[in-house]
Amino acid sequence: MGPEESFRNPPSRGVDARWRGFGAGQLARAIHSRAMLACLCLTAAIGAFRPAALATEAIEAARSGLRAVDAGRHVAALADDTFEGREGGSRGGRAAGAYIVESLRTAGLRPVGDEGTYFQRFGALRNILALVPGSDPSVSRELVVVGAHYDHVGYGTAANSYGPTGLIHNGADDNASGVAGLLEIAEAFKSLPTPPRRPVLIAFWDGEEKGLLGSWHFQRARPGALVDIRPVFSLNLDMIGRLRGNRVEVYGARSAAGLRRRLVGANRAGALDLIFDWDIVDDSDHYPFVVSRVPTVMLHTGLHDEYHRPSDDVHLVNLDGLEAVTRLAFDIVAEIADAPEPPPAFRAACRDETNAHRDALEKPLPVDPLAPRGRWGMSTRSDGGDPAAPVVVRVVPGSPVEKAGVVDGDRILAIDEVPLTGQEDMLRRLATAGEVVALRIERRGRMVEIDVRGAGQPAVGDRAGPTR
Ligand SMILES: [Zn+2]
Repeated sequence: MGPEESFRNPPSRGVDARWRGFGAGQLARAIHSRAMLACLCLTAAIGAFRPAALATEAIEAARSGLRAVDAGRHVAALADDTFEGREGGSRGGRAAGAYIVESLRTAGLRPVGDEGTYFQRFGALRNILALVPGSDPSVSRELVVVGAHYDHVGYGTAANSYGPTGLIHNGADDNASGVAGLLEIAEAFKSLPTPPRRPVLIAFWDGEEKGLLGSWHFQRARPGALVDIRPVFSLNLDMIGRLRGNRVEVYGARSAAGLRRRLVGANRAGALDLIFDWDIVDDSDHYPFVVSRVPTVMLHTGLHDEYHRPSDDVHLVNLDGLEAVTRLAFDIVAEIADAPEPPPAFRAACRDETNAHRDALEKPLPVDPLAPRGRWGMSTRSDGGDPAAPVVVRVVPGSPVEKAGVVDGDRILAIDEVPLTGQEDMLRRLATAGEVVALRIERRGRMVEIDVRGAGQPAVGDRAGPTR
């Protein structure tokens, strides 16, 4: 655990309050089992994250079935020389497709490609499509898509390889890792006793390395089984096999308000640092979905020296990291697919926002030693992309928040376990709060709980805090 561990509250604190956000049915189910209670206490600190209709036990069982060793077998198979670098339309690419289809068939996934097959053909290329049907007829047209491209660059050319060309480019990270994770996710959904409310499409894209051909084709043409179904959220797994320093790059989190908070909630136990990247460029299969106005997230563990070279091999893949990223992906997809509320609406502004905007939003304000400190000693800036999570941009030295460990860039999510609705809400509640407030903060994609003892008196005699 990192240094933020010391900011967490002791596990005994406020267990009852932490049940807020769980559905009544889940609460009843969980109370049935004291073992469950202990298990949930570990994850409850993250707040309101919990799929709504699926039993907690079922999610946990499916989630723990996502294992490094199984993913590793898929990576090793797909990145074997047998598949000759899996170039779209080539002999090796077709063989890799057959391997994926065989895995889906063994797992019992429903084919939703052309004419009852798993394949959606276009030219010499083939997407591979399988469906986990939803359990709620009222949302049966709301499709949640989780995808990964299975093609790579074959023997490489000057146009797609950093060389040396003429040798097999196994693409263990790019993107046998994403395919392996997706096969595991497909099995995890299949293992649930009840599927999530919404249907989940498991999509293996072809021709990504030739210009996102498979995911573009899917925007234009749907196989018969999917004609009436509209994607409402998509997740793209591209290169998730080289986790270093627990850093996962997250793209597209601003394509819907609140997506970032959901991802942070899904990052249970804070296993991963989520690095939110605001740039959205046409470098992977998330892009056609964003252009089609579908809220979309891509997970990626970063570039490396073996990127698009023959040396991108299986022994360099971090299988424990692949497992952690795959579990994060499963959690976020399961949550959105099963949520009782409608899926989040697409935020068109995400396409104009870049990392320069991010840096401007998060840029700290200068500290004026003569300025009044206030009760808490911090300033925040509202984020138009997620107004319910103000960003800390000034921490006054020696102030209560500084002593408690708040730092620039933290996002305030909740005060005394009640989520914020915006910066005004935060200011009002801090002004009237009692002596100590519990701040729930997001820091680099992890949830941190910090108690702050304020200086001076509340603004009005409302020491009990705001009513809800
Ligand atoms: Zn690539």
